[in-house]
Amino acid sequence: MLTAQEALDHLLPHAQAVDEVERVATQVALGRVLAADLASLVDVPPLDNSSMDGYAIRCADLSEVDMTLQVGQRIPAGSVGQALQAKQAARIFTGAPIPTGADAIVMQEDTSLLASENADQADRVLINHLPSSGQWIRRRGEDLMAGKVALTTGTFLRPQELGVAASAGLTHLMVKRRVRVAAFFTGDELALPGEPLKPGGIYNSNRDTLLACLRSLGCAPTDLGIVPDRLDATRAALRAASANHDLIITSGGVSVGEEDHIKPAVNAEGRLDLWQIAIKPGKPLAFGAVRKGTDAASGETWFMGLPGNPVSSFLTFLLFVRPFILRLQGRNDINPHRYFMRADFDWLRADRRNEFLRVKVNPAGGLDLFSNQSSGVLTSASWGDGLVDCPPNQPIHRGAMVAYIPFSGLLS
Ligand code: AMP
Ligand code: MG
Repeated sequence: MLTAQEALDHLLPHAQAVDEVERVATQVALGRVLAADLASLVDVPPLDNSSMDGYAIRCADLSEVDMTLQVGQRIPAGSVGQALQAKQAARIFTGAPIPTGADAIVMQEDTSLLASENADQADRVLINHLPSSGQWIRRRGEDLMAGKVALTTGTFLRPQELGVAASAGLTHLMVKRRVRVAAFFTGDELALPGEPLKPGGIYNSNRDTLLACLRSLGCAPTDLGIVPDRLDATRAALRAASANHDLIITSGGVSVGEEDHIKPAVNAEGRLDLWQIAIKPGKPLAFGAVRKGTDAASGETWFMGLPGNPVSSFLTFLLFVRPFILRLQGRNDINPHRYFMRADFDWLRADRRNEFLRVKVNPAGGLDLFSNQSSGVLTSASWGDGLVDCPPNQPIHRGAMVAYIPFSGLLS
């Protein structure tokens, strides 16, 4: 049996990033991967500006004996004021450029306006506390600088990255083409929701779990449906899947029973290693490649066969397929985030395998354990918000610090 790390060490060196690049509108680039460093077209903010509604002042104009200034101008966001005259304040609003000569902003809550009764005479403002130089000023370029790299090649684009690209002034982004993944699901017992269930039948849940996992990672999935437990049908599905895809994933049929046809089918259509990985749930994982055509020159499509049990296939996807896909995408951050958290549960029957327990963060900042950790109980994963990576043969005692991996970090 391989450890999870050994399996990754075998797997990942094979995954070469796709090289095709596309130019897409920033607005539709969610879930894509940057194919070039992104440099800002502008300074953000473009000018020193106020981070408060209040008054722009010059600190030297104020002293303990005289804290009033004449309000000489009004600068709303989007307009540029005039240079500040001596002993004057400029009424200013959040986001408005700092007028020349001003060196601090006093927020309006720290002032009292002494309104003039005479229309020809300017209002005066009383400043309640001596300000410190630079207060409430956002500096030009403190967020982005024109010409400087704001986001690097290999960055996965989340909503906040799209915002950064837009504030940098970019209408379009160079991204990697989507990784194309074909998926099919083996098992004579499977039916689609909406269809009648025959005796002993179950609904195909792996389809929805795995296709959604692929979409969350920004892949373009192709659903090739349910494939019956027959060698010829499995081989035909592999041939159909190999064209035009970077990777084929399947669920079920990777055990060694006579109803499990993945191994002989992939061997006939390409090559395959069947690994036993010392993880729970999970264990069998098939890795190989399927020929794209009849001659060697047409190349191969990667193949990963996941176990059929719903939690096992979800977990092996997150632990092994995800990093492989991230490498195909050319992403620079492939390791999921781990946090040390307090276990608010006992897990005394430690397994010989590396176990991944479904847990949820509780309001006290610890982790609760789902009561049924069976590999067939998918509600453990929807109840939970992450996994505890539990090393082999190590019981967990309440209060111990454990390695927690949130699902959110595994689905992006
Ligand atoms: P297998 O790996 O084919 O031996 O399947 C192991 C278990 O997972 C069996 O109980 C199957 O019925 C179940 N299973 C296989 N494929 C699916 C699927 N697509 N959706 C839900 N359960 C499945
Ligand atoms: Mg099966």
